[in-house]
Amino acid sequence: MDRKKFLWTSLLGALIPAGKFSFSGKSEQVVGPVVISTWDNRKANRAAWDILSKAGTALDAVEAGARVPEADPADHSVGYGGYPDRTGKVTLDACIMNEESRCGSVAFLQDIKHPVSVARKVLESSPHVMLVGEGARQFAMKQGFKKENLLTDHAREVWESWKKNPEFPVTSWDKYINHDTIGILALDEQGNLSGACTTSGIGMKMHGRVGDSPLIGAGLFVDKEIGAAAATGVGEEVIRVAGSHLVVELMRHGSSPVEACKQAVDRIVSNNGGQMEGQVGFLALNKNGEYGGYSIQPGYSYAIRDMKTEELVKSKSRF
Ligand code: ASP
Repeated sequence: MDRKKFLWTSLLGALIPAGKFSFSGKSEQVVGPVVISTWDNRKANRAAWDILSKAGTALDAVEAGARVPEADPADHSVGYGGYPDRTGKVTLDACIMNEESRCGSVAFLQDIKHPVSVARKVLESSPHVMLVGEGARQFAMKQGFKKENLLTDHAREVWESWKKNPEFPVTSWDKYINHDTIGILALDEQGNLSGACTTSGIGMKMHGRVGDSPLIGAGLFVDKEIGAAAATGVGEEVIRVAGSHLVVELMRHGSSPVEACKQAVDRIVSNNGGQMEGQVGFLALNKNGEYGGYSIQPGYSYAIRDMKTEELVKSKSRF
């Protein structure tokens, strides 16, 4: 980016209102760099935008964005402060993917605060795509990540109260499980796309459970010819339809981002006989800067940041 353009970008960045909300059932389009993320992850978008607005790469931007909720103890489905599994362990899943279809992923990782950065190390410093459990933790420690206790007092209290009534169905646990897994997609100044996804998964899950978020094609997919997609919500449902890959392939066949997300939602609902209690939300960004989202249940939103706007968009839903 030349200096004039950079100054213009910075000026616009300083002027835009931070509290804008909108409701959208159609795809919108931006010109220039953009970052979008699932739920109200405007803080994450700001960290990503700091990089994108200085002509940084989409890959750096999505990693920086994903690290924000990972470090936030008030975010109970991502990283530090995430709700534990049934045995009281916080186990983390994350992945990252760039425009060259290079990807890295970790699943069932314990004691490391920033799984998205470990996933990036898998991409850049290992011959593999995915590491899990103890192997992922050992790899992280060799790469210089430090071992930390990720179970906060609040998360322990919620787990202890769940233990008193362990038959309570996980789908009714929504007052505690707010599905704020972050999927984050960015298009940079050079026109390159990248994405990342990070979560502590569904609270009170079985020990050893891995959701969609670290699975390339389920929780995240990026294709430089077409676009990128990410998912949030009940991971089991997303895996069954290879959700994010499905959204990108639907865009390849001509669907707009919103239409592709809607068709993926419809596929999941039809797999469940037309009725569902659980939530799944998709987010998509194509290589032309068109973006959109769609969910099964009402209540899903996504955050966008570009040169002109910082917004939280309420997505349309099937029900
Ligand atoms: N997709 C995540 C998982 O199934 C959870 C979520 O987004 O709430 O692990």
